[in-house]
Amino acid sequence: MALIFQGCTCSICDRIIEEEQEIVAWPAFLNEDHTLWKYSDSAMHKRCFDQWNKKDEFIRLYKTRIDLNDPYLVEMIEKQGIPEWLKNEIHTSK
Ligand SMILES: [Zn+2]
Repeated sequence: MALIFQGCTCSICDRIIEEEQEIVAWPAFLNEDHTLWKYSDSAMHKRCFDQWNKKDEFIRLYKTRIDLNDPYLVEMIEKQGIPEWLKNEIHTSK
């Protein structure tokens, strides 16, 4: 799990992620043979993610596999709040 971001590189721009930068992190949710596999189980700058041309596709893929009981997701939400793109999806659950 890419939970420690210091020294990690952004999977989109390949630059180091600085501690103070806003990030988006993903659990491993794609199989290795998927074209977007390298972006799962990775961290990205939020800015890179927002401008990424695969963003919508990636979110769609993630939503089809999302498990709100996933400890990784629960932890991410506890630490960072619910990501913008996810808010519309989960406000009705629980
Ligand atoms: Zn980046």
